[in-house]
Formats: sequence, structure tokens, C-alpha cells
Amino acid sequence: MQWIDLALEPCPLECVYCGQSSEFPHFKSYEYENETFSLYKCTHCKSLIYDLRDVDQPIVPQVDQPDGVISEDVRWIYEAGFSSYHVAACALSALPDVPDHELKEHVFVDVGAGLGMASYFIKTLFGLKIITVEPSRTGKLARDVLGLDVHRAYFEKLPQEILDELANKPCLLHLNSVVEHLVDPAAVLSDIMSRVQVEVLAAIVPDAAWINLNEPFLNAVSYLAPRDHRHLPTELGMELLLKRLGFSHVATAITPGLLTSIGSRSPVSVPSERLIKLGRACLSRKPETPPPSAGRRRRRFSAAGRGCHEPERAADGGARPLLRL
Ligand SMILES: [Zn+2]
Repeated sequence: MQWIDLALEPCPLECVYCGQSSEFPHFKSYEYENETFSLYKCTHCKSLIYDLRDVDQPIVPQVDQPDGVISEDVRWIYEAGFSSYHVAACALSALPDVPDHELKEHVFVDVGAGLGMASYFIKTLFGLKIITVEPSRTGKLARDVLGLDVHRAYFEKLPQEILDELANKPCLLHLNSVVEHLVDPAAVLSDIMSRVQVEVLAAIVPDAAWINLNEPFLNAVSYLAPRDHRHLPTELGMELLLKRLGFSHVATAITPGLLTSIGSRSPVSVPSERLIKLGRACLSRKPETPPPSAGRRRRRFSAAGRGCHEPERAADGGARPLLRL
């Protein structure tokens, strides 16, 4: 498991993010479990692209496995899907800045939902209808622990019942640590967008620009996740992908090693650090009582994020928890 010194010829490839077709220069090769993987760098957006002819494609059919069986192939789990910070960041990024009554018309579509934390967050705090899709065994956990109605399915093969449920509804597509697993993200995303009315797409992905060849291979392995992750985008790669998908407004937040990219039909901005931290705090607690109306919650939550709201004072003078958690 290491970087290896190979100097390969440029390879004719198409960038799955920006769409550029060209002879891409070899970026770096590495050895993992006696197999050699080689990455090429897109000449336009600098995303890192595999020549898939060199890579076997064992997407683990977890949806078909009995619960409790841990596949040896499932070794690298990217932290973003489980970090409360990134869950809050991506979920909040998917929410359009619209009045409360309009927000409630939207469906939050959480694909590759993992433990379902983002679905739970949006359902609990904002009262939106959610559709949660997770093929792996963590989908069962999301059902058992958080009480979510989880569809055990792959993004590329969403059941017709889900598509029917989403028909003619404005959808907020949430993809936390999903895009980098797709062999052809543009094809998969444009397919779902041709069938579902996606108003906002928010995605967290590893940042290809973060890979530092001067550091040990171990520092990069969670980004590469051999046989699990595919091509890695840059900020520009994600922005061009979102524009190719038809979004007229894009924005990206960069945190160390990760991109949170947003494509939207209307002007968009990334959530503030304060709002994300507030969301993270909410995620770490469990509601004890049914929260107030979605509109009230969102107003109070948003106001707190803008820094113009202090926690209510309880009758005894103590600070009241913002969301009655
Ligand atoms: Zn590119």
C-alpha cells in the first residue's frame, strides 16, 4: 500500500466532472493489495480521473447481503457521512432560501443516506417530507435507531415507487459522500434530474486538490478508498458538473479535504459556520418533546445563524435550549 514511481504516457480520457475530452497526463500511481491503480489529471478542471479499463468494478452488492454480514470489501468509510459537522453542512446546503410556506412544499431526498442523520435532522428541525435511500446495512440502522422509513436501494436504480412519490414535487437532492462513488456522475445525476424536479443539489465530496504527493500514501488513502471511490473532483470540476446538469447558480464551500458543492435553480450561498455549528449541536441531542411548527423552527434557527438571536430566557432566568431539545 504505497505510492509507486511510474511514468505513464498521457491517456485519452473524458473528465466525468467538466466533460473535457483530451489526453490527460498521468498524475500518480499507487499499489494497493497487489494491484496498481493510476490516476490521470483532467487538463481543464484538474479533477483526478481513473482509466476504468484498469480498474475492476466490484461495487459491493450490500443491498442483497443478509444483515450482520460484514464484507471484507467494505473497509474505507469516508468520515463525512458520519461527522455531525458535515451532515449539518450538507443538509443545510440543500435548503433553498425561500419563505417557510414554500420550503414546506419541498421534499428532501437523501440518497446514500448512511445512518440517516441528515434525514433525521431535516425532518426534526424543519418538518419537511423526506425520502431516505440507503442500500447498505446502515440503512437498517437508520430504520431501527432513528425510526426512518428507509428505502434499501442504489442511487442508480431508484425504485419506481420512489420516483412516483417524487413526481411533480420540488426536490432537494442531498448527496453526502455519494458522487465520488459513481463511475459516471454526470450520467447518473442527469438521469435522475430528467425524472425528478430537482431544485437544489447539495453534495459533499473529497477534494482532489487535497492529495499531497509529498505526504505518505496513508494520508491520501481515505480520499482514494481503492475499489470504492472513483474519480475525485476539484472545486472547479464540481462547479462545471453542476452547470452541465443545468443549475444556473452554484456555490462551493471548502473545508480541509472536502468540498460542499451546491447547484440551485435560484441564487444560493453556502451556510455560515455559525449555522452549521448550531445544526451540529442539534444533531448531537435527541428531541424530548415534539418541536414547534416547522416555520417557527426555521425562523429561530435561521435567526440564530445570522447572529441576531440569543437563546430564549426561561422563567427562572436560565437560557432555554434553542430548539427545546
Ligand atoms: Zn475536468
